[in-house]
Amino acid sequence: MFEEFECLENVELSNYSTMRTGGKAKYIVFPKNVKELQKILKIIKKNKQKYCIFGNGSNILFKDEGFDGVLINLKHFNKFEVFGESVYVGAGINLFYLNQLLQKNGLSGLEWSYGIPATLGGLVVNNGGCFGYEIADFVEEVFVLKGLKVLVLNRSELEFSYRNSSLKHKYIVLSAKLKLKHENPEVIKAKMIDYLETKRKNQPCEYPSLGSIFKKINGKEILYPAKLIDNLGLKGVKIGGAEVSKKHAGFLINVGGATSRDVEALIVFLESKLAEIGVFPEREIEIL
Ligand SMILES: Cc1cc2nc3c(=O)[nH]c(=O)nc-3n(C[C@H](O)[C@H](O)[C@H](O)COP(=O)(O)OP(=O)(O)OC[C@H]3O[C@@H](n4cnc5c(N)ncnc54)[C@H](O)[C@@H]3O)c2cc1C
Repeated sequence: MFEEFECLENVELSNYSTMRTGGKAKYIVFPKNVKELQKILKIIKKNKQKYCIFGNGSNILFKDEGFDGVLINLKHFNKFEVFGESVYVGAGINLFYLNQLLQKNGLSGLEWSYGIPATLGGLVVNNGGCFGYEIADFVEEVFVLKGLKVLVLNRSELEFSYRNSSLKHKYIVLSAKLKLKHENPEVIKAKMIDYLETKRKNQPCEYPSLGSIFKKINGKEILYPAKLIDNLGLKGVKIGGAEVSKKHAGFLINVGGATSRDVEALIVFLESKLAEIGVFPEREIEIL
């Protein structure tokens, strides 16, 4: 179906999720540019296939049954163009590399995101953030595909909120224009390392995971599910190869041989324990 494009068939999804679990996808296609992406979407429609865009799979638990359709990955959308303090960045560029490019170009602002194993597209769609920052603080415009049309959406149209945006499941993000500030590259480097070390100290980065499983609850007082899970004494609880991290109770880790079923069962178990104390957090991760 996708002979003229870069395409993999019958692919192990565990290689495409940071949880390292999941079954097989029928196809993963890697368009080289917008034209190819548009052609691929037409083929998908014509053949009545289901499809989904994904970035680095750092927020997706792929089911063990696999994905009986077409996954599209924008790794070739890796544009990086600087105009003064603005930069146009392709959706498929990963944040480790993006931060290195920004550092070399003396552009400061995203250092907090160094260490998040995501693509820019995924981060924008989810309005990812940490250390009190979120990507919404830096986005000026987003170039998207709606249907087969390329549109430019400005900040006010993106309806950013905590770990969400109006882009999710509606648009394919192609690239974004970010507003940053000039800074000495050495200062930027020091900040990046500082944030990365803090993450490594507090999070189980040495194990496969999907980051925080649950969103914090923004009520009258802010409730942190990780803290509540810890208070309930659930750190270290295991189902199969999935474990509630002993380092950070908000992370479920793959300690070896976990299946997506193990991970999902552990999520459901934590939800039942939190429900017993009247807490019902929203999941941050997606199951596909
Ligand atoms: C160790 C670890 C640490 C983490 N730390 C943080 C953190 O500090 N802060 C935080 O916010 N998150 C964190 N996360 C979670 C995760 O990195 C974010 O949710 C991130 O935004 C997901 O990006 P991704 O490219 O991996 O997207 P994926 O997981 O591949 O996809 C996530 C969603 O975005 C959609 N999507 C991806 N790309 C596009 C696109 N181009 N156009 C349209 N839709 C798209 C997908 O369809 C899916 O709905 C962490 C995860 C891990 C594993």
